[in-house]
Amino acid sequence: MVFKQVEVGNFSVFCYLIGDEETKEALFIDPADDTDDLISEAKSKGLNKIKYIINTHSHVDHIMGNAEMVKKTGAKIIIHEEDAKYLTRTPSDLLMMFRATPSPPADILVKEGDLIQVGKVSLKVIHTPGHSPGGMSLHMDGLVFTGDSLFVGSVGRTDFPGSSWEVLETSIREKLYVLPGDTMILPGHHYGPTPTSTIQYEKRHNPFVRG
Ligand SMILES: [Zn+2]
Ligand SMILES: [Zn+2]
Repeated sequence: MVFKQVEVGNFSVFCYLIGDEETKEALFIDPADDTDDLISEAKSKGLNKIKYIINTHSHVDHIMGNAEMVKKTGAKIIIHEEDAKYLTRTPSDLLMMFRATPSPPADILVKEGDLIQVGKVSLKVIHTPGHSPGGMSLHMDGLVFTGDSLFVGSVGRTDFPGSSWEVLETSIREKLYVLPGDTMILPGHHYGPTPTSTIQYEKRHNPFVRG
């Protein structure tokens, strides 16, 4: 498996490249900006088939690279079914504020338990709503991509339309904190003192949700 964490754009978003050397297939989680650099990174690792764009959720800071990435690679957009309708409805004031290009509609809608595959690498969808209704995390052996649900030393905001603190706290406790303690957390933003963390560390030290 090929795996790389890349900070993109001006909003501290972490994009993830995940690929399979054998089939040369790859996907990006939240390729929000710097799409040429991301594609070069994939090519430098021999990955020339960008199969999917996975959006952890529909917020503008995560989806604003979709249109360019689709144009350059033909990748299919994947999002949780409960965030799908918001993907193409980014308010115009937010598009202006983020200097963002609207996203094309999603090609594939997923839900809890679905598997997303590139070659032999497979990611399992964990629905972690609260920051947004269709927020999702993606789990594979030893790694969990948590989007804006859980950060290093923090959690996602719940003051947006469709957000709920109670729902987010339940998602973190019942869907993420139940994973093995040494599972590495790969968050959707570089907000913490370190770029990654572990489930065990956040359960003990996260000031918002202790496990
Ligand atoms: Zn968000
Ligand atoms: Zn975000």
